[in-house]
Amino acid sequence: MPVRHDRAAVATVAGVAVDTRHWIGGRRVASPGTFPDVSPIDGAPLAEVARAGADEAALAVDAALAAFPAWAATGREERARILHAIADGVDRRIDELSAVETADNGALLRSHRHGVMPRVAHNFRFFADWLLTLGHDDFETRGHTNHVSWDPAGVCALITPWNAPLMLATWKVAPALAAGNTVVLKPAEWSPLTASLLADIAAEAGLPAGVLNVVQGYGEEAGAALASDPQVARISFTGSVPTARRIAAAAAVNLVPLSLELGGRSPLLVFADADLDLAADLAVGQYDNAGQVCLAASRLLVESSVAEEFTRRLAAKAAALRQGDPRDDATDIGPNIHPDHVARIDGFVRRALDAGARAIVGGGPNTELGGLYYRPTLLTDIEPGAEIVTEEIFGPVLTLQTFDTDEQAVELANSTRFGLAATLVTGDRERARRVGGQLVAGTVWVNCFFVRDLRAPFGGSRQSGIGREGGTWSFDFYCDVKNTVTAPKGWQHHG
Ligand code: NAD
Repeated sequence: MPVRHDRAAVATVAGVAVDTRHWIGGRRVASPGTFPDVSPIDGAPLAEVARAGADEAALAVDAALAAFPAWAATGREERARILHAIADGVDRRIDELSAVETADNGALLRSHRHGVMPRVAHNFRFFADWLLTLGHDDFETRGHTNHVSWDPAGVCALITPWNAPLMLATWKVAPALAAGNTVVLKPAEWSPLTASLLADIAAEAGLPAGVLNVVQGYGEEAGAALASDPQVARISFTGSVPTARRIAAAAAVNLVPLSLELGGRSPLLVFADADLDLAADLAVGQYDNAGQVCLAASRLLVESSVAEEFTRRLAAKAAALRQGDPRDDATDIGPNIHPDHVARIDGFVRRALDAGARAIVGGGPNTELGGLYYRPTLLTDIEPGAEIVTEEIFGPVLTLQTFDTDEQAVELANSTRFGLAATLVTGDRERARRVGGQLVAGTVWVNCFFVRDLRAPFGGSRQSGIGREGGTWSFDFYCDVKNTVTAPKGWQHHG
């Protein structure tokens, strides 16, 4: 086994010590190679991170498999207690986690501190508490008792993206562990660092060795090895559609159940009876995280009669956004993640402008800030079906199209291959109910956005995903759900 166990590799990132080796079977494991991790804020090198290949992935799966029987047999209350202890550890280290996450993926420090990291802790508490109440009433069939139970499935391979690294990872890690599974987590190569801190926190909280393993590396190396490992019982993936296809193909070989949370190009529908200030506020909010939000309602569909006024209000709000260093509390919008990603965003915008679209706001990189800072952009005069409104941009780019009737609004809203979410702004609840019912989307928000509750199902329709996460849906996925039918006392089989 060429895997090395000795090489110390601790990077100091934003003043925080981060071990950049893998976490496998309760110890740090180095790799023969590393990959560079660079901050999107200023291009500064942050760390050389252990680069897993098939060997380290296999080692991690073996460690998870070895730890599985004992963790699966651990009582629900004890599992819940340890998950609560992990949540407490996250709470204690919110400042450190936030600083490292911001350095690594460029999202706002204040939102990490006040929104994202508290939600990371909540992910553990929520699934710990849900576990304790998980159950169905037994029921009878001709005097026989049916008892439905959730058996842990085994080793779960969790593969996650860079846009909200720890939030999205723990949304999978917490229910998988709560359900009694063991886990191999592979964070994205553009923002791998907080996963390593999570491993430290979990160990401090008393999670037994091998129950949570973390391997860093490139998708086509470490990720592909995990997805094709025949010992893996579940694969949960959040990321892009092309990667999902590869993972689904690998999962098909082993017939492994798969959860896919994928991209979107979600609409925000503004009707003439809407509160236009609310609509403009919701629209400008779509620049959050520099547009790198899967749920972003970045396709604005506005009733023609109010389009001019709405555009005026939105353009004023967008122009007032302060772009800059995400560590500065005054900043509203930071950098995008990586030069390749910025080139992709700019390619979409350039082609749209060449095809006749008009930039009302922005329309290119922020030349004053340079680097990865892309100006908040609002495009209009777009041909129906154009690439800029059918593809996921995943940057600070909003498009605006108009409609005249509810039917046209629905047709436009449903005109992509995605179906993650949809937002309606209207003063008419009956219209919201009628139109919302016709939208293809996993989540519909009416006069609000991003109100999320872990009790609710979350996921996408069409190519935005397969399956739902949250509450019982998470446990259904991470377990082998079993029905045990018991005969009445004194029953004997005759014949
Ligand atoms: P990506 O698909 O490029 O990568 C995601 C993860 O998959 C990374 O860890 C990567 O290393 C790994 N990977 C890449 N190739 C692989 C392979 N062949 N086998 C196994 N693993 C592989 O996605 P990204 O660019 O990191 O993330 C952005 C995408 O994620 C966007 O499309 C966004 O909409 C989506 N996303 C969806 C949700 C949701 O909940 N629906 C949430 C956040 C992001």
